Amino acid sequence: MQFNTLIILDIIPDIRPLEAIVSKSRRVVAVSHFKPDGDAVGSLTACCNYLRSRGVDVTPVLPSPLAEYLQFVAEGSGLLIFQDDEDAVNAAIAAADTIICLDFSGLSRTEYLQEQIGASKAVKVLIDHHASQDASEFDLVYASTEVSSTCELLFWLLMQMSDVAGDVSRLGMDVVNPLYVGMMTDTNNFSNSVSPSTFEMGAALLRRGVDKNALQFAVLNNHSEPRMRLMGHLLKDKMQIVDGYDAAYMVLTAEEKQQYSFKSGDSEGLVNMPLTIAGIRISAFFTECPDDGYIRVSLRSRPGTDVNALARAYFNGGGHVNAAGGRLWLKPEDVPAYFLKSLQEFFGK
Ligand code: 5GP
Ligand code: MN
Repeated sequence: MQFNTLIILDIIPDIRPLEAIVSKSRRVVAVSHFKPDGDAVGSLTACCNYLRSRGVDVTPVLPSPLAEYLQFVAEGSGLLIFQDDEDAVNAAIAAADTIICLDFSGLSRTEYLQEQIGASKAVKVLIDHHASQDASEFDLVYASTEVSSTCELLFWLLMQMSDVAGDVSRLGMDVVNPLYVGMMTDTNNFSNSVSPSTFEMGAALLRRGVDKNALQFAVLNNHSEPRMRLMGHLLKDKMQIVDGYDAAYMVLTAEEKQQYSFKSGDSEGLVNMPLTIAGIRISAFFTECPDDGYIRVSLRSRPGTDVNALARAYFNGGGHVNAAGGRLWLKPEDVPAYFLKSLQEFFGK
């Protein structure tokens, strides 16, 4: 059946420019976004492990650390983190002739690295699945919002590379495992943004030998007891419904984070829960981040409501139509009034 091929051609316009860049590169840096999620570290690690298998000198770089539950994904990849080792990251970027950017639409998402990467003379490639890439910042852009994740887009790109030639068995386990993690986390374990090509990818990876249950347990079922109790507290005592706008929100304060021994990643997925209430179409989750000096904003919506536009207009961020994020410079107690005002203005009522 030719179905698989058709889907690949649909997503991938032309692999030749990437193939040409990869074969000419001497030193590559690959980078993903600030506060990396599963798709960021999955695509970064898979990309670097693949390039290394082709003999390319490649350094994976992140602006900020990985949450504990994602650290295993990057194990053995030689990952450098700017916040832990500024000099090594600066040196790697300065020496790079190619910079591959993964899972973000503009360099501002690399936070502290934006300036160095922007000023670098290296050839810049972007591989991403968000809306509205800033194409002026890159030399070559592979972008589609039709795929579930950057990991999925990268998978279909790798399948086209000359040494892989559509044969998944030519991709190492240190490539396919991270790809699976990123696709699994960005789709909420196959519940959103899934298309036929996503299942095609899943099937290919399982045939290659990915242990789906092991990865699922490592990422999704590996939380602490305080994290579960925090979820109970937030859902029972903190979730508010905004009458008239079919919206729900929760505010997590620094004090509560301390009380529940909060670790990075502990609130992952919580923003989705209010959307399981019949009639709720927007969910917002606000987290006070005293170290960063702002409130992190997470937004989710049902199809038909565009939280990417809401995030861009009111929350200094962006993302996807049904999953977006940003930040606010407000006190936690001022968030409810600001959220209400943003809904009033956004919906014009
Ligand atoms: P999350 O709510 O899981 O942190 O983010 C959801 C989506 O919004 C992700 O796809 C992410 O790329 C995007 N996003 C999160 N924070 C920001 C931000 O500060 N700026 C932009 N442009 N996008 C963001
Ligand atoms: Mn992603």
